[in-house]
Amino acid sequence: MSTSASARAVALAETDPVAAGLGYKADATKVDAKKYPTYVSGRQCAGCQLYAGKPADATAPCAIFSGKLVSGKGWCTAWAKKA
Ligand code: SF4
Repeated sequence: MSTSASARAVALAETDPVAAGLGYKADATKVDAKKYPTYVSGRQCAGCQLYAGKPADATAPCAIFSGKLVSGKGWCTAWAKKA
């Protein structure tokens, strides 16, 4: 395998416009469940279909946030259960 994208990518900031639009939080427990009723406690990036890493990885690329790394413990409104 060549150098992984994750080695070069930077962490996604919650203040990133796209991240903010999707309610991304690097710590899913900080998600405002009133503002984001689709959030279900326990859901996090590591269990999301779009998380391009192993569930145990602390951070990994996400299909939505090209070139950035999301936190395995994070969450956003685009969360989709890993098949
Ligand atoms: S799409 Fe999934 S992996 Fe990407 S930030 Fe949202 S919850 Fe995390």
